[in-house]
Amino acid sequence: MSKKVYNFNAGPSALPKSVLETAQKELVNFEDSGMSVMELSHRSKTYDSVHQEAKQLLTKLLNIPDNYQILFLQGGASLQFSMIPMNLLKEGQKASYLMSGSWSEKAFKEAQLIGEASIAASTKNEQYKSIPSFDSSTIESTDAYVHLTSNNTIYGTQWQSFPDTKDVPLIADMSSDILSRPLDIEKFGLIYAGAQKNLGPSGVTVVIVRKDLLEQENDNIPTILRYQTHAKADSLYHTPPTFAIYMLRNVLRWVQDQGGALAIQEQNEKKANLLYEAIDQSNGFYTGHATKESRSRMNVTFTLPNEDLTKAFLNEAADKGFVGLGGHRSVGGCRASIYNAVPVEACTALRTFMEEFQQTHS
Ligand code: PMP
Repeated sequence: MSKKVYNFNAGPSALPKSVLETAQKELVNFEDSGMSVMELSHRSKTYDSVHQEAKQLLTKLLNIPDNYQILFLQGGASLQFSMIPMNLLKEGQKASYLMSGSWSEKAFKEAQLIGEASIAASTKNEQYKSIPSFDSSTIESTDAYVHLTSNNTIYGTQWQSFPDTKDVPLIADMSSDILSRPLDIEKFGLIYAGAQKNLGPSGVTVVIVRKDLLEQENDNIPTILRYQTHAKADSLYHTPPTFAIYMLRNVLRWVQDQGGALAIQEQNEKKANLLYEAIDQSNGFYTGHATKESRSRMNVTFTLPNEDLTKAFLNEAADKGFVGLGGHRSVGGCRASIYNAVPVEACTALRTFMEEFQQTHS
């Protein structure tokens, strides 16, 4: 039997155990093909049914309307930081970025290399403790898009509702909270997410794009970097990451079995509340990084009264099987990433540990 661990990794992160077991069972003989799904041609019927089912499940679970297309790409969310402006930011246009953390900064930096991009709102001056407020009257109808990061993996903040950008497409990096709650897709022009937090293993990036945006594309960029290329070929322009897409399909089946996005949201709220209550009831022993209104239900970030206690907390936690609780290397402190596949039981165990640690160290 393997060692009992509670996986709070920030990404790649926990996957549902049943999904891993299915993959194990099917690994060397997928659907009686006599070979692994990894060994199938990406042009075969057997693989195509996996590809199509993954798209159908995502469409159903996120209620994606017909005028949107799903793409399975490679290069992570980071490549999207460049592909978005390359494809959608034309000369004479401006793109606005809403800055809520390091990932927004990275996205903004890439856009500046490609065209005119400006910061429309930012909470950098307050260490990204909250989500910026954004006055949409500052954008012009000719703007290319407005970009935001829906969940800030490093700082532990999350947009609770999204701004109305009228006719200007809203683009969201949902890498760390896609499918954690129901979404009104029609508010967005484009959504993207690396799979390795809520959707599956690393290797595939999901892009959901409104079809009219594909039509205004830029022909001056390399073929493989055009959304249109992938849209026309149903994400089979070149060899897709077939095993990652197979795992994505299996995770989506699991989400469906859990009752879909709403049921998952309820579960996520319960998990986050367990940890935020431990912070709020600790009389200041644990301090949350995010302001209450901006708290993420995916990444709970907190510090202890001093560095020595933080180190002791992380060491003791690791001894007890809690994995991945160190904050991102750029900010330190502690972070519990509680994506969809992290069970309530793991959060209950962490809460108990936090309470016990406080009792013995204060
Ligand atoms: N955006 C966000 C919000 C993230 O959390 C991450 C990864 N942690 C990235 C982008 C970068 O993703 P990738 O490693 O897939 O390029």
